Amino acid sequence: MTFLIRYIHYLRPHWLRVLGTVLASLLFVAFSGVSYWLAADFIQSLLREQMIVPPMPEGAIGLHNFIDALKHLSASFLAADTPSNTLKRAILFIVAAFLFKNLALYLQTILAASVEQRVAKQMRDELYERLLKQDLAFFHARKSGDLVSAAVNDVNQLNAGLADSFSKLIRDPITAILFLILLLAISWQMTLAALLIAPLTSGVVTLAGMSLKRKSKRTQEKLAVVTSRLNDALYGMRIVQAYGAQPYERERFTSATNDHFRQAIGKERLRRVISPLNEVVGIVVVAGILFVVGGRALGGQWISTDDFIRFMLMLMGMLNPIVSLSNVQSNLKVAEGAAERVFDLMDEEHHIRQLPGAVAASGFKQELRLEHVGLTYSEGREAALVDVSVSIKPGERVVLVGRSGSGKSTLLNMLPRFYDPSTGTISLDGRKLTDYELASLRNLFGFVTQEIILFNDSVKANICYNDVTIPDEKIHRAAQLAQAEPFILDLPEGYDTNLGDLGDRLSGGQRQRISIARALLKDPPILLLDEPTSALDSDVAEEILESLDVIGKGRTVLLATHRLSSIAGAERILVFDHGRLVADGSHAELMKTSKLYAELCEKEFTV
Ligand code: ATP
Ligand code: MG
Repeated sequence: MTFLIRYIHYLRPHWLRVLGTVLASLLFVAFSGVSYWLAADFIQSLLREQMIVPPMPEGAIGLHNFIDALKHLSASFLAADTPSNTLKRAILFIVAAFLFKNLALYLQTILAASVEQRVAKQMRDELYERLLKQDLAFFHARKSGDLVSAAVNDVNQLNAGLADSFSKLIRDPITAILFLILLLAISWQMTLAALLIAPLTSGVVTLAGMSLKRKSKRTQEKLAVVTSRLNDALYGMRIVQAYGAQPYERERFTSATNDHFRQAIGKERLRRVISPLNEVVGIVVVAGILFVVGGRALGGQWISTDDFIRFMLMLMGMLNPIVSLSNVQSNLKVAEGAAERVFDLMDEEHHIRQLPGAVAASGFKQELRLEHVGLTYSEGREAALVDVSVSIKPGERVVLVGRSGSGKSTLLNMLPRFYDPSTGTISLDGRKLTDYELASLRNLFGFVTQEIILFNDSVKANICYNDVTIPDEKIHRAAQLAQAEPFILDLPEGYDTNLGDLGDRLSGGQRQRISIARALLKDPPILLLDEPTSALDSDVAEEILESLDVIGKGRTVLLATHRLSSIAGAERILVFDHGRLVADGSHAELMKTSKLYAELCEKEFTV
């Protein structure tokens, strides 16, 4: 139950509200006791048609006679001059006691709910923050639906389960103990007999609880599948429709919802049976006891006839919290399943981290050097890069070419440390990349990624992304360089047009140009361009590559491309084949020395 300790940690900032729930619980217990007690007096006076005030016990009040003292107090409190006035008085006080009891209950539940929502918010924020710190490899290994489901559903389930249990854990034991004391004082023999229900009920609950935790974890997993199927289909709706795959997708989705439904219904069946089962078991045991000891009890050996009514009422008062406590265990099991998923995600290690004593990277002045660099994405897979050694000087324009899957993107991704090499080292100006502060290192690079990533925000915000202080002129300049300004000005609200509102209405090339503008705006010493012109027609592509000459001045540019025609003038080309660097030179040199390069060029030009 370590997850409980962790949950209590989250409660600490809200201690005042927690204290409030405890106090409200105590009030509830007190009024609850009073209401049952007065009800007993009331029923007795009804049966006798008058209120008899028993004498106050003589001498000191102790464990043996405090029940008699209580009886004296409550009866003299209720008794009035005439029986009908007594009745009115009793009714009034009983109603008041029930009213206050429920007010206290309301106060307690509302405070608990406010703590629950606060903790849920805090957990979500924390989970999100941890996710932001995670390595890219972490996201590649998971379905985004799973992560969404954990942050939304699991956090909910965990908090709802725990907050509810937490309130009950405070309220119910105190209530049960209060009534237990009263019961013991009325008749310890009857109480002991009745207490036999406790182990029986807890046995039933423990058995069910074990299976419930498993079931509930599986239900959440199935829900995550539903979320991720939904995500997938919505994201790829164009393909779904183009292939007329609606029946296929519907089939897949209903099969996921079916799986979830089956798990959920099984879980709910089990969960909902626990409380009624408990009550039935409890009542059967109580009835059994009364059946056996009934005669003796009524004969006055264990209990007086007077006290019998009071005892039965108090017993009911004690059974309620015990039954409700039995729900706590099943709630906790459900919460534990959710907690495992949430906390596991929070605890997931990230490997790309900043070492202590890291220095700030201030620029690129001498050399970017790869020595025997290799990368294997995951155990057992073929290496994506093998033994790559290369040195790049500031201001160079280096073009990376090679067949699809030869490792170009992999290499570019390693420079801002999205992945660290499995073997070999990468160094910048004589220091390993790992010696630099991560943020300052990444700040050296402008990156146009192979998949274009735009956010649901204005064009302007997409270009300047997280730095809103950038003056408009710089944004416009970057957009001009990326050949994006003409179409941006044509949008309904120009730079303020929301891309989310536009939905899919930008063309691939337009999207690409916005992402190029974003990379240019950062004014970085090193530009990493992964197929930046794949979606552009040759004219625009050429223009952009030419403008790279302008903005590439005094900058280092690494460009991965299949568009060999546009790089004929390049002075330095690296040719990759199956993760290996197989040639390095100018276009003219490579045409003579590299068979692979000549082949690639020939194919490109004949297409
Ligand atoms: P393309 O020209 O198609 O963009 P590329 O040269 O950029 O290809 P990479 O993306 O670097 O090739 O991929 C090199 C190898 O690494 C491929 O075999 C690919 O399947 C694998 N790979 C790429 N990214 C990942 C990843 N995130 N996890 C696991 N394997 C990956
Ligand atoms: Mg690539």
